[in-house]
Amino acid sequence: MNTRMPHVLVVGGSFGGHAFAYKLISLLLEKKIPLPHITLLDPRRGLLNPVAIPRSLVEPRFAEITFARPGEFSREMIDNVDFVHAKASYMTDTHVFVKSPLYEDTLQLKYDFALVATGRHHPDYIMPSQPTKEEFLALMNFYVLKFRDANHILIVGGGAVGIEVAGELRYHYPSKSVTLVHPHAELPPEPVSEKFKRRTLEALKILGVDVQLNTRVKTETETGVITVDGREITADCVLWTSSRGKVVTEFMDKEIFENVLDSTGALKVNYHMNLSGGQKSFENLYAIGDVNDFPVIKTAGGAIHQAAVAAQNVARALAIQCGREDTWPERASIEPWGIHTAILIGKEMGVSQLMGLGDSAGYKESAAFFGDDMSTSKCYESLGIRKSTRLRTLEDSHDGSVKALEKTAASLSVRETTTSV
Ligand SMILES: Cc1cc2nc3c(=O)[nH]c(=O)nc-3n(C[C@H](O)[C@H](O)[C@H](O)COP(=O)(O)OP(=O)(O)OC[C@H]3O[C@@H](n4cnc5c(N)ncnc54)[C@H](O)[C@@H]3O)c2cc1C
Repeated sequence: MNTRMPHVLVVGGSFGGHAFAYKLISLLLEKKIPLPHITLLDPRRGLLNPVAIPRSLVEPRFAEITFARPGEFSREMIDNVDFVHAKASYMTDTHVFVKSPLYEDTLQLKYDFALVATGRHHPDYIMPSQPTKEEFLALMNFYVLKFRDANHILIVGGGAVGIEVAGELRYHYPSKSVTLVHPHAELPPEPVSEKFKRRTLEALKILGVDVQLNTRVKTETETGVITVDGREITADCVLWTSSRGKVVTEFMDKEIFENVLDSTGALKVNYHMNLSGGQKSFENLYAIGDVNDFPVIKTAGGAIHQAAVAAQNVARALAIQCGREDTWPERASIEPWGIHTAILIGKEMGVSQLMGLGDSAGYKESAAFFGDDMSTSKCYESLGIRKSTRLRTLEDSHDGSVKALEKTAASLSVRETTTSV
């Protein structure tokens, strides 16, 4: 009789991977099914809320609340998951290999079920790859000071991130000039309604952001940027937010996974979140969130939603393995949902198009969707992470925090890098 405990491996432990592990454990505990061995592989030592990055780049100390250390995770996660803080360097349909200075030899992890939730490559100031909270805070502090010292800031790219960063900058620094350049006639690029697009532009203008549409930047210079039609736009600080970021799947064996990797490198999945493409399907392998080709606007909530489906299917397979076929008679599945997205523009205005509500919510109501911490408590609560009460402490300590930051920044050497995870 085979008594080996099944091994469930999670590659990438941000919103998607963390939500998957948390949900899997909760489902199995609830139905009293023996837990498998669960390993979560991610170089980051904690969980970061990327939704809150635009404000963390601008507001001193806000970044503090947006990174949860492993000690703040739920008891279920702490007790039942092995956290391996390293990157997967190579993956087959049976093993994941980890090469890291942390281990003398390459670590080989054989798995029975695996979930890939490795997201996309982004520059560090958009999705910081810093493994520890201290390094993450140092990077955010570096940008807080950089923006504080600039007079004219130019943001390249009017996607959701560029819009939010421009909004935060003008909200916090109404006397600074902020320009947002975007290569197309309207923004954001997502398939949102005309009304959403119109109101986004309107909100940016109310805040005083100089939006230059149909403007493509060719190159950055010492004094700003040159556009493809030869115009110079001067700025003493330029931030590129234009790249959508390539999906992180380069560690997956190209031959084994040939049928499930699309031309952009995204993982093809079916409605059960299984890797599936052409005639090939991997019943024990799942991909969720930003890394897959599921045709929805990529959001944190979407990754968490897909994680629940994958978790239920793995829980079901484990139930069947121990003779509990009736626990979940059907495989869980999910269909692409409609537009469900929101953008925050400064602290008090937002634009949204939400299922059930459409695009009729006003600026204030849409902003309220994010709470006062850019959805951090909302996301972390849904993942069982203990509720942050630090926001109040943050406000109390706000005065004089820039001075404190200068001290910290001077004592830390921060790389300004666009290297991604
Ligand atoms: C600045 C910004 C603002 C955003 N704002 C919003 C918003 O307002 N609302 C919203 O819903 N969504 C927003 N999003 C999108 C949202 O953050 C993503 O959709 C969500 O994080 C996707 O989760 P994920 O788990 O799929 O991937 P990610 O969050 O990208 O996580 C991928 C994880 O994989 C790890 N990893 C990478 N390579 C490896 C490897 N080889 N081995 C192991 N681990 C690896 C990384 O360290 C990372 O932790 C925003 C994103 C950004 C960047």
